[in-house]
Amino acid sequence: MSKNLVIVESPTKAKTITKILGDDFRVISSMGHIIDLPAKKLGVDVEDKFKPAYVVIPGRKKILAQLKKEAKGKENIYIATDPDREGEAIGWQIKEKVFKGKNVMRVSFHEITPHAIGEAFKHAREFDAQMIEAQVGRRVLDRIVGYFLSPLLWKKIARGLSAGRVQSIGLRLIVERERQIQKFTASEYWEITAELFKQKVSGESSFLAKLEKIDNQKAEIKRNEDAQEICRQLKDKEFKVLEIKKTEKKRYAPAPFITSTMQQEAFNKLRFNASKTMLVAQQLYEGIDIGEDNPVGLITYMRTDSPNVAAEAIQEVREHIGRSFGKDFVPEKPNVFKAKKSAQQAHEAIRPSYVSRSPESLKDFLNHDQMRLYELIYNRFLSSQMKPAEFLATSVDIQADKYLFVANGSHLLFEGFLAAYNKIQEEEEKEEQEEEKEKTKNVVPPLEKGEVLGLNTLVPSQHFTKPPARYSDSSLIKALEEEGIGRPSTYAPIIYTIILRDYVRRIKGYLNPSELGFKVNDMLVEYFPKIIDVKFTASIEEKLDEVEEGTLSRIAVLEEFYQPFKESLDFAQANIVKEVITTDQVCDKCGKPLIVKWGRRGKFLSCSGFPECKNSKSITSGVKCPTEGCGGELIERHSKRGFFYGCSNFPKCTFTSRNLPEDKEEEKEK
Ligand SMILES: [Zn+2]
Ligand SMILES: [Zn+2]
Repeated sequence: MSKNLVIVESPTKAKTITKILGDDFRVISSMGHIIDLPAKKLGVDVEDKFKPAYVVIPGRKKILAQLKKEAKGKENIYIATDPDREGEAIGWQIKEKVFKGKNVMRVSFHEITPHAIGEAFKHAREFDAQMIEAQVGRRVLDRIVGYFLSPLLWKKIARGLSAGRVQSIGLRLIVERERQIQKFTASEYWEITAELFKQKVSGESSFLAKLEKIDNQKAEIKRNEDAQEICRQLKDKEFKVLEIKKTEKKRYAPAPFITSTMQQEAFNKLRFNASKTMLVAQQLYEGIDIGEDNPVGLITYMRTDSPNVAAEAIQEVREHIGRSFGKDFVPEKPNVFKAKKSAQQAHEAIRPSYVSRSPESLKDFLNHDQMRLYELIYNRFLSSQMKPAEFLATSVDIQADKYLFVANGSHLLFEGFLAAYNKIQEEEEKEEQEEEKEKTKNVVPPLEKGEVLGLNTLVPSQHFTKPPARYSDSSLIKALEEEGIGRPSTYAPIIYTIILRDYVRRIKGYLNPSELGFKVNDMLVEYFPKIIDVKFTASIEEKLDEVEEGTLSRIAVLEEFYQPFKESLDFAQANIVKEVITTDQVCDKCGKPLIVKWGRRGKFLSCSGFPECKNSKSITSGVKCPTEGCGGELIERHSKRGFFYGCSNFPKCTFTSRNLPEDKEEEKEK
């Protein structure tokens, strides 16, 4: 019998580690959380230093008993949960509830490889009390907010609603953006592009120049007539080269992924939403069956805000780049990337565990999604240790009377890191890169100062100013990160939760607040302005980091938060009343007006005479149910699993869809 017991949180991880540790170790999985705050009570003593009362989660008693049994006769017990705050706290709770009084050690590692696991067991340690304090602080804060806000939402809007602390900030950003879009009015403007050619050489292809200035002022053309008039004036003018500027530009390699950048790029390049990215990354981290006895961990831990890379991995990737791309692509010294102030230095960036395992070599073992994400992580890591790309940018000023045109071209001198990173098909490129591309397409021939150019055509084009774009998973995570809200473990759950509650709907990849989302947000902003203030929330997040560093006590953070919260709460509890949303429809049973209500299954019309008259009506989308012979209409509904469309003939017809049927695009996104 093995002398050592190792506890991890997932069965796959257990299997992957078993292979590495060998027969002396018995590795078992706790199958996720065992202990948490009670589901139906506050579980926090706000009068006594916010003491949490953790309980065994109902239904988990069996696994707890099993863990106890496994521990019998073992010399050492190691807890090897994930290497972050949450993993530390889960491990600690298992130790306290299950193995009290036993010799329990903590091991943590950022990748599941023989080397990393070996090092971790060599340096088995005590639990990190500060890290646990920070996690408990976060859990208690979130519990207090959720527990007290929900009943207020029930009172004002509808039963069953809930609101979280950081999720509400995400919702607020989305709602505020939507209001900017609603207020926006587009204004028209025109651009004029000249297609020019070099007269001295025959057969030379033409190039494009854009009108930038008129009489030394920025060209601002508002109407078609003005654009036409300018073209008319320009027709017989001489186009003469005024100045040529050539600059060499470098584009530096990006840092290897951290959680936020991986989620952003996986959305931009693969159209994965944040939750999907994390799910697939976790599979790659915990281990994939690649035709060997047991699964093999392919990437480092996916929840991190540190771009650091282990020295051995840097050495390995530099050698690999030299072999695959050539010595010219390896920088003299390894590229170093700065972490954010709050980042945990001990952590590592997300990278492949073995550079030798190319995406190509794994193609028989990874499914489509795993392959695409692995490729993205792999190529990003390679490129992060490569030389910058070099461009020669050409900008030519061309004068025609009082009009100044500018032709921009860009020529790639050295591919650098782009050799590795451009391999992946980009579905949506960053604006900057888009511009760069346009310049690259415009081939400006060699020109001389004073040279007179031929004019092929003048093309006026109509444009409109654009409203700010709705957030996507990618841009919301970027905004949350810039504002200092959220941490590697929270970006994906923030988006997931507000969608699940139907406060936000993801339509063609963009986050649209629902009517309910507007209402919930407006109530929170009205009654809890400080609690859902972006700066205040960022400062609380920062203070939780300080708790982890040991420079601040958990109680101090909780008190700082609870004081303003309690004030708002008391006021809200005394003043919030039910909101009645009237309609111009009347009840067909009693003639009283119908009002809009939210129920467990979504929005519906109810008789204002309730409870005397119990008449109610669904609100249909006006779209016919696609089930043949049904004749019903689709209705907005939501369930525990989030928003969907159901049929008005339910339960006779059980058609459901996440989207209206015409919306084929969306189907793919699931
Ligand atoms: Zn009625
Ligand atoms: Zn139907």
